Amino acid sequence: MTESMRGVFFLGPGQLELREVPIPTPNPGEVIVKVGAATTCGTDLKAWRRGHKLFKPPMPFGHEWAGTISALGVGVTGFKEGDQVTAANSAPCNGCFYCRRGRQQLCVDLEARFNWGTYAEYLRVPAHIVAQNMHKIPAGLSFAEAAFIEPLACAVLCIKYAEISLGDTVAIIGAGAQGLMQIQLARAAGASRIIAIGRARGRLQVAETLGADVVYSTQDGDAVAYVKELTDGRGADVVIEAAGSAETWQMAFQMARMGATVVQFSGLPGGTQVSFDATHLHYDEITMKGVFHHNPRTVEQAIQLLGAGQVNVKPMIDGEISLAQVEDGLGRMQRSEAIKLAVNPAL
Ligand SMILES: [Zn+2]
Ligand SMILES: [Zn+2]
Repeated sequence: MTESMRGVFFLGPGQLELREVPIPTPNPGEVIVKVGAATTCGTDLKAWRRGHKLFKPPMPFGHEWAGTISALGVGVTGFKEGDQVTAANSAPCNGCFYCRRGRQQLCVDLEARFNWGTYAEYLRVPAHIVAQNMHKIPAGLSFAEAAFIEPLACAVLCIKYAEISLGDTVAIIGAGAQGLMQIQLARAAGASRIIAIGRARGRLQVAETLGADVVYSTQDGDAVAYVKELTDGRGADVVIEAAGSAETWQMAFQMARMGATVVQFSGLPGGTQVSFDATHLHYDEITMKGVFHHNPRTVEQAIQLLGAGQVNVKPMIDGEISLAQVEDGLGRMQRSEAIKLAVNPAL
């Protein structure tokens, strides 16, 4: 008789269901983990609110996790039962057009290589993720902190694209989990002045705690004018947008100085059009980039940064919730009452 477990399923926007399903057993190369913590994510929130191109319901929900290996498939090396581990939510094929060009986050097979279902008591980790993107949890990290490996790997790729130079003034729009990690990475990359721009004042306080030199709420006026005022009218050397609206994408572009790099980190709903002044792009030599997801190198960097304490994620974890409270938790995130929550399936 197979044993059963509880897991949260996504049935479509606004619809989650807690189901009783069999505990998975491992195929060759796979591991099964008992989930210790699964952190809620802005991507889950987006999917729950309006659907998401990567989410094909009905499907198991959740993609960030850390836990303990409870069973190993044939041929798994480097891990054993009882190891505390965490992993990214995908791993590339390494053979396609984009993978061969070093852009593994654009892997044409990525959609089929995602792993969902971390809001559950047990999780199957597919062989391609075990082999490339699963890591033992460094000493001293809680499950909830270790579960940040995935979002932090995205932030690491973003900071690579930002090409920050020593001494730069970096403006970061958005003080959610991504913005709060990017502040710390921008500092590590050599930024001298970090301006955090957001709305909710509570989050801007967290941004200050985590190293922002200046914080500015868009409730107080024009963030573009504010950044220009702080930079002798020039604008910021590097701008990162991690707030998630067409307005903030425009804002990011507008507050960039001549020769600046602008990284548009947040994904907008399909078909969104953003307009910008072509004169600023051309004559002012603005470099504007999109960035998506992570790759095995940034996943590895993420776990190193977490283990070394160079990125502090504790202030972003606004408490623990049970599997039955996932929907309620997403509501709290939507109302900006929580940055992230750690789902503990044992509760
Ligand atoms: Zn995520
Ligand atoms: Zn590929």
